[in-house]
Amino acid sequence: MKVLFSTWKDKVIDNRGKPQDAWTDCPVKLPAAFDANRKLTAFMGWGGIVVTEGQFDMVELAANYTRALQKSSCGKCFPCRVGTRVMQDIFGKIMDGKGTPADIKQLEELCDSISKNSKCGIGQLGPEPVVQAVQYFKDDFIAYSEGRKKASGLSYPYKMTAPCTSACPTGMDIPLYIEGIKEGNHAGSLATIRQASPMASTLGRACFHPCENNCRRDNVDKSLSICKLKRFAWDYEDQHVVDKPGNPLKHTRPEKVAVIGAGPSGLSCAYYLILQGFHVTVFEKLPTVGGAAWTGIPHYRIPKHIMTREVQYLKDLGVEIKFNVNFGKDATFASLRGKGYKAFFLATGGDISKEMGVEGEKDNIPGVYGGIGILKDITDNVTKDVVPVPGLKPNAVPMPKTVLVVGAGNTAMDCVRSYIRLGCEDVNIVYRRTKKEMPADPHEVHESEDEGVKYNFLLAPTKLVTENGKLAGLECQKMELGPPDESGRRKPMAVKGSEHVIKADMIISAIGQDCDIAYLKEEPTVQTTKWKTIVTNEETFQTAVPDVFAGGDVVSGPLNLVTAVGHARRAGQSIGQFLRGEQVGPSDEQRMEKVIAGIGAYDKDEAVPQAKGWERKAMPICSRHDKVGSFNEVELGYPMEDAMEEAARCMRCYIVGMACVAPGGAQ
Ligand SMILES: Cc1cc2nc3c(=O)[nH]c(=O)nc-3n(C[C@H](O)[C@H](O)[C@H](O)COP(=O)(O)OP(=O)(O)OC[C@H]3O[C@@H](n4cnc5c(N)ncnc54)[C@H](O)[C@@H]3O)c2cc1C
Repeated sequence: MKVLFSTWKDKVIDNRGKPQDAWTDCPVKLPAAFDANRKLTAFMGWGGIVVTEGQFDMVELAANYTRALQKSSCGKCFPCRVGTRVMQDIFGKIMDGKGTPADIKQLEELCDSISKNSKCGIGQLGPEPVVQAVQYFKDDFIAYSEGRKKASGLSYPYKMTAPCTSACPTGMDIPLYIEGIKEGNHAGSLATIRQASPMASTLGRACFHPCENNCRRDNVDKSLSICKLKRFAWDYEDQHVVDKPGNPLKHTRPEKVAVIGAGPSGLSCAYYLILQGFHVTVFEKLPTVGGAAWTGIPHYRIPKHIMTREVQYLKDLGVEIKFNVNFGKDATFASLRGKGYKAFFLATGGDISKEMGVEGEKDNIPGVYGGIGILKDITDNVTKDVVPVPGLKPNAVPMPKTVLVVGAGNTAMDCVRSYIRLGCEDVNIVYRRTKKEMPADPHEVHESEDEGVKYNFLLAPTKLVTENGKLAGLECQKMELGPPDESGRRKPMAVKGSEHVIKADMIISAIGQDCDIAYLKEEPTVQTTKWKTIVTNEETFQTAVPDVFAGGDVVSGPLNLVTAVGHARRAGQSIGQFLRGEQVGPSDEQRMEKVIAGIGAYDKDEAVPQAKGWERKAMPICSRHDKVGSFNEVELGYPMEDAMEEAARCMRCYIVGMACVAPGGAQ
């Protein structure tokens, strides 16, 4: 990106005085438009300063940025708390035209001292761009000090975040909840988590934790166990007598909202809405809550009695859940509008297993199943023994000698690991690429191997094989890996004449899911994609029909828990704005979140000056006998001392990013 000026990551680019076509590139990517009516002209933050065009005021930017640092300082360490306060006072003098050269010098010295002596990212990384502003824009500082320059009136939205938080679709304040655990304030920690998500237990047990891939501790030794600490905070509340926060705004507004689907996205949206005072009813076609987190993710990863208790909290806050209501059949847009519902949140996920596309698949051969259906049947059978669910009527689970699971994602992992637990003797994966390209979580792959699952790589299924009308096996073709395809992974190419049959008496297709959005026939204005997902505004999650919003897998396609929850958080905010008659859209702070994520809050090559060797605490797991012989939960949770010790590894890498925003909009 061509810029006027940059000090980003200590690489100074100074194109001032040069014609625009001679400007040089800077590695940072900034959007030209901040929103439809405003331009983003400069940025100041943890990595330096970037100026993209002429309409900016460096002194005013630095003064506002300092104020943001002061506001963001947690106040626990003296250099940051007091140092940024003094910086702010000095800026006050300069901006009032009463500064002196000694003030400007003191500002530089203070910045240096705060950076060296502070305990977290705000103090350590925050002041550096102010020093750079003084260094490269000194004439402007002197002009302000002497009263020759006056405030420009541009605006300066900012966001305090952290690399881990920036990677989390829910925008959770991760360092703050980790600190709660470190200090023994476990209820406070859970309260912080609940500001972003009501599903601490579910996320703490099965989230793919993009935060941990953005953890600066990984540049030192090993990333923090952020996900499992979230689980600890919830487990603590579950196991101790702790007063759960209530809902002072319960049903204080007259409007009713219909949430369709009681998966993580629907439940989370219901939570954000109930906290705003609306009446919320969740309509769910099954007798169970939790969507794929209940029916798909097996009991040994998310125990169903635990999830029932997690959802009870939402009910206590005022969320109503109506089970066995299939939207599109038992209830419709028209019928619910007729009952006074003023907005809809569609969160119906994707629960139809994709077909393998092999010969014989349309012949309804007994023994061939979709992964989603079989996992649901297995879970229903486990559920009936652990928690009462009115109306649950489990199907019998087939028990083969040899099962072949086609696919290598997490659904495939859950299928094979479940069949190991059911006592199946011969459990196999068939995958057309190699282990390296497997989309499943590496931890799941490792566990499945440990539990006895056999892998058949570089094989693609071609035909279902029967003998005397019964399933006998799967014909497969060998594959070789060619150049990367559009997914970035090497493309499998068939080896001619390599067809052969692998014997099996059960075959499970686990290669992805489709969404069932037949209920949209009634609302054809809502746009959909060729993958049968719903099109929404990507910031507000509003569809083309103003009272209809959507989120989770039915928008993204099958993805993950934390993205589904993140969508719901934004949609909950948008629905609230819509019902209150406000402009539906993100706040400036949320726009800043996006700007910072675009720049990249985490640099995996950064040399972090911190002592190495503080080992990440492993979470205890159950015995091998329990692991393969039952559906008992595998991970047992952190003992309190381990959780507190692990939390103490957090380096509180808070950062502040501020934009200079001028009138003008997109060019
Ligand atoms: C087997 C499996 C394992 C997974 N493992 C992980 C994991 O380890 N980590 C992770 O992060 N993600 C995992 N995922 C993905 C994750 O579960 C989903 O991304 C997430 O559940 C999506 O949430 P959602 O609320 O959008 O949809 P869903 O969870 O699918 O919930 C949709 C809900 O809507 C209901 N519904 C559908 N149609 C209607 C209708 N017409 N009327 C009323 N109700 C309806 C469904 O019954 C369901 O309860 C896994 C998914 C599967 C299938």
